[in-house]
Amino acid sequence: MSKEDVKLEYKPASDHRKAYYTLRWRILSIAVVGTVGFILFLAVLLSESKDNADLLQEIRDVRYPVQESLVAAFNELEAIDSNLEHAFISSNTSLLDHSMQLAAQFRAHLHKVMVLEDKHRQDVTEILSGFDAYFGDSHALAQAIITKQMEFSESTAIKQQNAHAFNQLLDALGELQTGQSDELVNSVDAATMRASESLKTGLITGAITALLLFLIAYITTRNILQRINNMVSSLRQIAVGTGDMAVRMPLTGADEMTELAYWFNTFLEKLQRVTQESTAEVQRLAFTDTLTNLPNRRMFLRCLGAEIKRTQQTRDSAFAVLFMDLDNFKPVNDQLGHEAGDELLKAVAQRLVNTVRNTDTITNDAAQRQLSAYQPEPGQPVVARLAGDEFMMILTNINNQDQAAKIAERIRVAVMRPYMISGMECSIGVSIGICLHPEHSDNAEDLVASADMAMYEAKNHGKNTYRFFDPALREATELKVRLDNAIRLAIPNNELHLLFQPQFHLSSQKLIGAEALLRWTHPELGTFSPNDFIKRAEASGQICDLDDWVLKTVITQLREWENNNIALTDIALNFSAAQASRPNLATVVEKIAGANKHLLKHIEIEITETSAIDNIAAVESNISALKSLGIKIAMDDFGSGHSSLTLLTRCEIDKLKIDKVLSAEVKSDQKSRDVVRSIIQLASRLEVSTVAEGIEDEIQCQTLTQLNCDLGQGYFFSKPLTTTEFTRFLQKGKDGVIKAA
Ligand code: C2E
Ligand code: MG
Ligand code: MG
Repeated sequence: MSKEDVKLEYKPASDHRKAYYTLRWRILSIAVVGTVGFILFLAVLLSESKDNADLLQEIRDVRYPVQESLVAAFNELEAIDSNLEHAFISSNTSLLDHSMQLAAQFRAHLHKVMVLEDKHRQDVTEILSGFDAYFGDSHALAQAIITKQMEFSESTAIKQQNAHAFNQLLDALGELQTGQSDELVNSVDAATMRASESLKTGLITGAITALLLFLIAYITTRNILQRINNMVSSLRQIAVGTGDMAVRMPLTGADEMTELAYWFNTFLEKLQRVTQESTAEVQRLAFTDTLTNLPNRRMFLRCLGAEIKRTQQTRDSAFAVLFMDLDNFKPVNDQLGHEAGDELLKAVAQRLVNTVRNTDTITNDAAQRQLSAYQPEPGQPVVARLAGDEFMMILTNINNQDQAAKIAERIRVAVMRPYMISGMECSIGVSIGICLHPEHSDNAEDLVASADMAMYEAKNHGKNTYRFFDPALREATELKVRLDNAIRLAIPNNELHLLFQPQFHLSSQKLIGAEALLRWTHPELGTFSPNDFIKRAEASGQICDLDDWVLKTVITQLREWENNNIALTDIALNFSAAQASRPNLATVVEKIAGANKHLLKHIEIEITETSAIDNIAAVESNISALKSLGIKIAMDDFGSGHSSLTLLTRCEIDKLKIDKVLSAEVKSDQKSRDVVRSIIQLASRLEVSTVAEGIEDEIQCQTLTQLNCDLGQGYFFSKPLTTTEFTRFLQKGKDGVIKAA
């Protein structure tokens, strides 16, 4: 059944209610036929059995007593004749008396017959009058002979007459009895027949009723079940996902099942429509960035694949792929709030589309459509939002770098124009990476990756500019990937070790501790300073693992020195920005220290001011938690980044490490000297001690000492030492004081 087969001319019951009782009547008719059939069956049985009972009663009350009386009368007649005969022969008068009694009984029996069966009245009357004649003559003859009033020889003629009368009586009585006996038999036969007839009639009525019931019920239920089965099987298939929602039930007839089918069809129609709509919505959401309504990454890759295919098939002109990342979007987002950030992204999306719309390479309609339900059209430009503040574009019909550069510049200028967001004016830049198809690649993923690399190049060249992809960039990226993988293996392969650079009290020249500095010795690439790999470790998210390793190694080393009775000094170690702002850092540190928590008071953690600025709230709370474990905090490279004095006041800093560039300049540059003096004075006011880094010679050391810098480290005192060298250095301290060499 398809949708086309079904004509929806049927009107639901709410409009034409009367038309929908067919099925009800049909089911009702089953009950009516059943009841009527049963009543008929009972009536037949009752009437038949009543007739039968009447017949049997007649047999019992009439036929049988008549028969019985006739038999008795017959026997009495014979006995009378025999008595009279014997009385005649033996001259016994008592026999005569006895015959009189028998005659009375005979008459009584025949009277009974007459009373019971009126139709025998005539016959019985005749027999009775015949009997009276016979008995009178025979009795008189016998008496006459016994009393000798008559000679025996004279009696012969009368005797013969009497015998003749007796025989006639016997015949008449026999005939009556035979007739009566036949009637009795007939009555019994009739009763038997009627009983079997009534049983037969009952059975036939029952069978006809049952057959009728079966037929109506079968036709009705077959019709209902077939239609229910069709609906159930359709629903089951739809439920398990193999069914066709376009299926419709035929609307033949006008019964309740048709109404059910009508609503079934209506329900499916609605379900089909809702499913189609929600599928379309899911599709739309799967391919759309809900904030800007632009195509998302998935859709963009699809469009890119389609564009590659199209240009290959049509040998059309080339196209460009642009990767755009907004510059300094995060601070705007953080300062104005996420809602304002969203507004800004929407405004940027609008400008990107408008910019492309203004070029010669896009039709206005296509660009407009991108902001509503987007349907990619072959050969048309595409603007998409990948994630966060990243956008991408396909610019069709771009045959050389100049064409692409012109549009990129237009985009840059358009994005740079100020925005009014939440009543505030703000500005933003965009870094654009461009690659060309097929010049740079003919693969979608490659094109995106290449444009991405070019965008990073734009970022590295001061942001808010554009750069074209260069194959050398790919090599550099591949190198980065190799380096990331190598860093990942550094800990499991035991390729890391620490150097310790001693730190001294400047005026007394006493050893006060050391800074632990990380080294990585790769089996093929050689030994790296952190400057060479820390950035990559940060970018690939591995820096916290490295910092954990350093902390663990320093604690193990302190424990070893403690076990060897070597006087312990403070060991400073460097925490990256990611580590410094890591959630629950103090818990991590405690876990690493394990049973050696008492050694944490010898740990000093160096945090660079730049790293603290990025996430000051997290760093601040971590610092106070670390300090409660007894750990000291130093601010590293002070004066090299964005110096934040609020940091000094907000965080509980113990030491301030003056950056080695500033330390180096103090001996020759008056301004630097003044800056360092101010830093030291400020630190002293805040009761924070100062450490000068990178002291390379005596003049530098003296100048810093004169400026009241408390502590120092640098090649002038000692280069970073291996563990063995530094251990030896510490062992000298057994005598009490260790001084610079
Ligand atoms: P930093 O914390 O400022 O460390 C001092 C850097 O200056 C060290 O370089 C040290 O070898 C170098 N140095 C020491 N004395 C002198 C000197 O007299 N003259 C000059 N020119 N340099 C001197 P290194 O070991 O290459 O470390 C560089 C930076 O790497 C460190 O700067 C620190 O920020 C970071 N770093 C070192 N170890 C780790 C670590 O375990 N974890 C993290 N996250 N960063 C580390
Ligand atoms: Mg340091
Ligand atoms: Mg430093």
